[in-house]
Amino acid sequence: MTTNDAIVTCENLIKVYRIDDLEVMALQGLDLTIRRGEVMALVGSSGSGKTTLLNVIGGLDRPNAGKLIVADNDLLKLTDGSLDAYRRQYVGFIWQQKARNLIPYLDVEQNIELPMIMSGVAQRARKEWIGELIDAVRLNHRRGHKLAQLSGGEQQRVAIAIALANRPALLLGDEPTGELDSQTAEVVFNIFHELNRRFALTVIIVSHDPHIAHFVNRVVAIRDGKTSSETVKRVDVAGSDSRDPAHLEELHMLDSAGRLQLPKEVRQKYGIGNRIVMEEQEEGIFIKPPVNSAFEAVDAERAKRLTEADAPPELKTSRFDRIMGALRRKIK
Ligand code: ADP
Ligand code: MG
Repeated sequence: MTTNDAIVTCENLIKVYRIDDLEVMALQGLDLTIRRGEVMALVGSSGSGKTTLLNVIGGLDRPNAGKLIVADNDLLKLTDGSLDAYRRQYVGFIWQQKARNLIPYLDVEQNIELPMIMSGVAQRARKEWIGELIDAVRLNHRRGHKLAQLSGGEQQRVAIAIALANRPALLLGDEPTGELDSQTAEVVFNIFHELNRRFALTVIIVSHDPHIAHFVNRVVAIRDGKTSSETVKRVDVAGSDSRDPAHLEELHMLDSAGRLQLPKEVRQKYGIGNRIVMEEQEEGIFIKPPVNSAFEAVDAERAKRLTEADAPPELKTSRFDRIMGALRRKIK
């Protein structure tokens, strides 16, 4: 992949939230590249950092360290004013709560027109773009209806059109189908693909839908503020029923230093603590727990004790707090 293909590049991205004396490391050195024109999804358990990632990509929030380039903008280096301009020019947002984007007493057309008026688009250009957008989100028959007359799915489609009012390159959605039933959600996903084809839009969606992999080209899983694995459609399988699970392949991601994360379930299953043996074989690399090593018993014991809260030691907030505390004392 050349850098020209990438619309979003995150390298070792770090985001720390501070409330009083408490620090939460929401992004813990996250690496991710998103290609121009992808329709992709971010998944992960609650608190894994999905919303934080979306907000920093969208310029609503600033990362503390690392690298974040979106459409050739270096988001860690932009001034506050340039970040506002970046957000207006490049990013459209949709949220789970439709009300966040919509004005109930205006009709569909007026709702879509409002942000264009605010950014000074001339009337003729406005009308043209509104027509295209209404067509793309399939609301031609609803043009003059007030928002209250629309179903939940239709309202979310208006929200999508509004998000695209300024012709952004990126559409970011934080669980935009979370309140919709599965059929309505499918219509919304079809519209994302339609927008992608028509306007070369890149779409990044945070989702809880267990079937999400069938509706997008790639699903990236976030765990403890880092990317852990991705599911892509296999290109080597003949036929095109993308709903067949055989067409999906889960790939584990290495971070920029080449580190691999083994999920807790896998470590438990194979009795892996924090040491492994890697054997090079003809087809690839074989990973297994160590045998006959001085640490074998220690590691097996550690694997047994793995719990949900068992983050790798360097990621534990308490240790991070101590380091930050020490740094602060040094600076003072
Ligand atoms: P997700 O969207 O995957 O549920 P978030 O990105 O919202 O996760 O949160 C990641 C972590 O950062 C969580 O521990 C959360 O409590 C914390 N966090 C998120 N936003 C804030 C904030 N504005 N202030 C303090 N902590 C926050
Ligand atoms: Mg969230």
